[in-house]
Amino acid sequence: MESSSPLKLHRGAAPDARAEAGRLLETAYQQVLTAFGMIGYPVTTDENYTDTAARAAKAMLELVHPVSEVEDEIAAMLEKTFPARYDGMVISKHNTCFSLCPHHLLPVVYRVSVAYLPSERVLGLSKLSRIIQLLGRRPVLQEQLTHDLAETLHSRLESRGAAAYIEGLHMCTAARGIEAHEARVVTSAVRGAFRDQPATRQEFIGLVASPASLL
Ligand SMILES: [Zn+2]
Repeated sequence: MESSSPLKLHRGAAPDARAEAGRLLETAYQQVLTAFGMIGYPVTTDENYTDTAARAAKAMLELVHPVSEVEDEIAAMLEKTFPARYDGMVISKHNTCFSLCPHHLLPVVYRVSVAYLPSERVLGLSKLSRIIQLLGRRPVLQEQLTHDLAETLHSRLESRGAAAYIEGLHMCTAARGIEAHEARVVTSAVRGAFRDQPATRQEFIGLVASPASLL
């Protein structure tokens, strides 16, 4: 997949660290299965469990990417911007992304909308979605993800302002039977013009907030 980036290949340690993390995760998931066996599940006799530890380790590494890969790809995208020919709000709304809650290591499904007001440079629209996906591939709190998106599109893109609005469906609360409204969390972050001009902020929230619930 993304491992073809020359930037990443240059960092020789990363592939080794990823492989070692995969091995550690597989060992950890073997322990999980042993624990499941202790509480009555047929983990040694049901063939559905045969390669589960390896599969689960691989799946976890798809949810959580190495920090260096996330940072390098975002840095590369921020270097490939285009001159701004339009100074209106650039918005990418209702992107679905998957993440992991750092408190319980359970999945979170996010619906993410971001916007910025260009100054000198603009990013391709597909790049906005990609940045959202990448920043989600971490064990990260929703508040931090919201902050990181707004910060990336304001400070790092040097825009006149940026905003992020996120609805999260957290398995750690949803799957444990806590009331549904507590499982859906809404966060927003505003920078620059979105913070200083209530009308700009309202325009953004009006475009992205919808009464329809996530999932
Ligand atoms: Zn959690």
